[in-house]
Amino acid sequence: MNPVILKRPEHNISRKNISAAAIKVLYRLKDAGYTAYIAGGGVRDLLLERHPKDFDIATDATPNELRKIFRNCRLVGRRFRLAHILFRGEVIETSTFRAPAPHEDDKVSENTFRAEKDGLVVRDNVFGSPEQDAMRRDFTINALFYNIADFSVIDYAGGLEDLKKKIIRVIGDPDQRFAEDPVRMIRAARFAGTLGFEIEQKAYEAISRNRDKLELASQSRMYEEVQKLFFCGHAEQVFQCLEKTDLLHPMFHDFSHWIDEDKARHDWVIKTLQQMDRWRTAKLDVHPALLFALLFGEYHETLVKELVDSGHSPHDAATTAIHRHLRKVNERVRIPKTVMHQISDIMAHQLRFEKTKGHRPKRFMQSRGFLDAFLYFKISSKTQNRNLELLEFWETRRKQ
Ligand code: ATP
Ligand code: MG
Repeated sequence: MNPVILKRPEHNISRKNISAAAIKVLYRLKDAGYTAYIAGGGVRDLLLERHPKDFDIATDATPNELRKIFRNCRLVGRRFRLAHILFRGEVIETSTFRAPAPHEDDKVSENTFRAEKDGLVVRDNVFGSPEQDAMRRDFTINALFYNIADFSVIDYAGGLEDLKKKIIRVIGDPDQRFAEDPVRMIRAARFAGTLGFEIEQKAYEAISRNRDKLELASQSRMYEEVQKLFFCGHAEQVFQCLEKTDLLHPMFHDFSHWIDEDKARHDWVIKTLQQMDRWRTAKLDVHPALLFALLFGEYHETLVKELVDSGHSPHDAATTAIHRHLRKVNERVRIPKTVMHQISDIMAHQLRFEKTKGHRPKRFMQSRGFLDAFLYFKISSKTQNRNLELLEFWETRRKQ
């Protein structure tokens, strides 16, 4: 199929808005005789006049050729083999154009491609043409290329039209693409929420048929994606989209059912996410532990209270209840052990805010986990309208 091509004067992408490191890699590849494109999210965001997080490059140079061209290059990735090219402290992810998933009876070595019986792809390193590479991507708006040779934008999948219409459309058959990689469903919700786009009807219906497949996704990839969901600066809209598509249930089973029982719980989560978004807008770094502590905060407090009521000491109840819940979360979303401990520390530390006498406040303020615990205390006090005098005490102490 012939792609739609926008020549330089027909679009708004300027090299000024592309990182110097990415430009360098693109020109080095072009000068060595290769095709070199910016691909995916970078092109999408530039066309939308948003600030891209990073620039990924797609090329016809193979990983081994890349290693010869760039000294500062590392080959990474098991599922997709790609190159990380280091330029002045910036890592530019560069991958070779990929071919479509081969049919079962095609002879391709196990090493380059492997699909499980249920269609889940676990390894694919078959190189292809730019068109094939575009059609393997998840959504039409993520399949655009920017060609450094003539500064044109190349569209094989209809992404330019969908950018205009503000639509998240799956490339190919949504049921098949979601079965191949169930994480694409939560990516759809993330892009819809972040960009303020609608998920196209067929994709939307396919999500409702395939959402239970999320349990097949790798738990560590889920952890990466979940962080992106809530750290993107549009967590509130993303969360609403996850609820609308009913993806929250397969991700966080117990927590989402607990939310469903009471509208006030839902409002608490939304307020927390609004706070996350304010922090992102202010370009503040938020620890994953603080994010999860806040997100699950009210739910964890309910679980802790149940244990205290059944005779546990408050400190013991906090650690036991929280670890019990997080171990269940881990069946779907693998939260690293250190982060799990930090989450339960934040919660266990909350008891110390009640102790305002003597040297205790000073000692607490000098301890390692204080800042995250304090941020949790502050946000939860404000959103729940409680402990306001205590909060004032601690805010005054912090200023002294
Ligand atoms: P972000 O702004 O969050 O970085 P992005 O579109 O760049 O968004 P990445 O996760 O960085 O998303 O992936 C880069 C590109 O790789 C995507 O734009 C898309 O073309 C392709 N891609 C990523 N994940 C998948 C996937 N699961 N299936 C198919 N294509 C994917
Ligand atoms: Mg990206």
